[in-house]
Amino acid sequence: MVGAGFAGMYMVHKLRSSGYTVQGFEAGDDVGGTWYWNRYPGARCDVESMEYSYQFDAELQQEWTWSERYAPQPEILSYLNHVADRFDLRQHFRFETRVLGAKYDESQDRWHVGTNDGQETTARFLIMATGCLSSTNTPDIAGLDSFAGDVLHTGRWPHDGVDLADKRVGIIGTGSSGVQTIPVLAEQSDHLTVFQRTAQYTIPARNRRLHQTEVEDVKADYPAFRAGNNAMPGAYGFPYVADDRFSAFDLTAEQQHEELERRWQVGGTTFMWAFSDAIIDPAANEIVAEFVRAKIGEVVHDSETAALLSPEHVIGCKRIVVDTNYFETFNRDNVALVDVGTTPITEITAAGVRVGDTVHDIDTLVFATGFDAMTGTVMRMDLQGRNGQRIQDSWAAGPRTYLGLAVPDFPNMFTISGPGSPSVLTNMVASIEQHVEWIFDCIVHMKDQGRTSIEATEDASDNWVLHVNSVADQTLFPSCNSWYLGANVPGKTRVFMPLLGFPPYVERCNAVAAAGYQGFKLSSV
Ligand code: FAD
Ligand code: NAP
Repeated sequence: MVGAGFAGMYMVHKLRSSGYTVQGFEAGDDVGGTWYWNRYPGARCDVESMEYSYQFDAELQQEWTWSERYAPQPEILSYLNHVADRFDLRQHFRFETRVLGAKYDESQDRWHVGTNDGQETTARFLIMATGCLSSTNTPDIAGLDSFAGDVLHTGRWPHDGVDLADKRVGIIGTGSSGVQTIPVLAEQSDHLTVFQRTAQYTIPARNRRLHQTEVEDVKADYPAFRAGNNAMPGAYGFPYVADDRFSAFDLTAEQQHEELERRWQVGGTTFMWAFSDAIIDPAANEIVAEFVRAKIGEVVHDSETAALLSPEHVIGCKRIVVDTNYFETFNRDNVALVDVGTTPITEITAAGVRVGDTVHDIDTLVFATGFDAMTGTVMRMDLQGRNGQRIQDSWAAGPRTYLGLAVPDFPNMFTISGPGSPSVLTNMVASIEQHVEWIFDCIVHMKDQGRTSIEATEDASDNWVLHVNSVADQTLFPSCNSWYLGANVPGKTRVFMPLLGFPPYVERCNAVAAAGYQGFKLSSV
């Protein structure tokens, strides 16, 4: 079992509490995954705290109390530490241990797992709880090695924090991480230069402290709250669903504006639910996009800066971002915006970042350039399945999975929130729990039936990849260069990786299991 984030922790707990032997491996020196690594100033969740937590244990749900609408990173990490202590999970992990690769032995139906401490571990099942956003992406910019100052990545932020007072800070990247950290870096540093390649749509988070009564209301019937969320397309946002969602074109221009304004005031990613066709019909989408552009124009004083900050692409096809004071930050005297979309960064020098003929002097350079998402972590390992089949070859034309849970030619290997599952389009804790429970049930079934090997068939996997893409093609999601498509990593195959729609997916997984693991081949040595 690889990884000690939300997924690995629950998987270990589930298996151990039923008496299975499990060995966890984690590259970091403690639990937490995403929330262990991403300690940049301003990091917090964008799914509300009362939703972004485990639901498998009623007592755990009751005893933990979130303080804010969107929990900050330190609080989520404290929560995961609490879970690790409560269920005594650390003893099942080897920390500071990186899995380098694994090889499947068909004669034994076992995996041989190699780690960076030179040891080999043998196991019947290999479970990848390695995360969708755990391998950082740092662009290969000429001269980076010659830079004289500190270089940081939001996804590998130093644990002791960084003192930025009196520093001229440069940040490359304006995705969710950049947008969260830019307002805080502007406050903490002497000067901040933001290098923006693509302007970002972001919606006010309207983060605030949670009132005791609203926490109590949810806790009074947490299962109903969970069930409501789990029935939502992304397993989140139940409190913000409207009974009567309309196509933009069933509304007058005034009604459209009222609904957008109402959701803008509420804040958060559910802003995109203003119209039922917002992410389907380009004309409806443009109404939403134009509303946000107008807001940017109202907030940002300098009209040239406002124009540069105004995105042109389809709203929502890159992950929608939520922020606290993002656009306001560009009104500060110590913040400069540099467009590197029209004139890309030429090189990094000892003194700073060259764009065209200008070198922007920088003391500390922050990469908020995201991740080799969904496939990067698995493909960085030397995984060899049946007949020595390598994962890099198997996924050369894009990830091939069945249900995002299993890969043909890689028997007895499971991927938690793997490509082809709803994963990053959902409240990931809910998705993770569903995967862990499905995998657990499958392992129990194998044991009960005396089976030693389970493998996704080629046909089932090919059809699944087609299904994932055909669902995405009914929307505007594939229309821009997002990491959902692998477009952020040069040379990565362009294919839409996550599946839209949590409830139908869960139904499908359950049906597959109920039919005796349809689409899988089960056998015994
Ligand atoms: P991770 O938390 O990524 O854990 C994977 C672990 O595997 C890591 O600790 C890693 O070190 C380890 N690992 C990987 N490869 C190896 C190896 N070869 N050997 C040993 N160990 C290895 N999702 C939401 O739903 N809502 C949010 O608000 C939200 N906010 C986010 C904010 C940030 C900054 C980021 C980066 C992601 C966010 N996500 C959010 C997605 C988030 O990744 C998931 O919600 C969740 O934390 C993933 O848990 P996980 O256990 O699957 O993976
Ligand atoms: P990201 O969304 O991939 O954003 C990376 C940014 O870096 C983009 O602005 C990208 O520009 C820019 N970039 C990449 N390479 C560049 C280059 N060579 N030159 C200039 N700019 C470059 O990564 P992220 O912000 O870390 O977020 C990744 C995902 O993690 C999110 O989508 C979300 O799922 C999750 N996350 C969530 C939260 C939260 O709010 N809870 C916070 C952080 C992360 P282009 O757009 O032009 O590619």
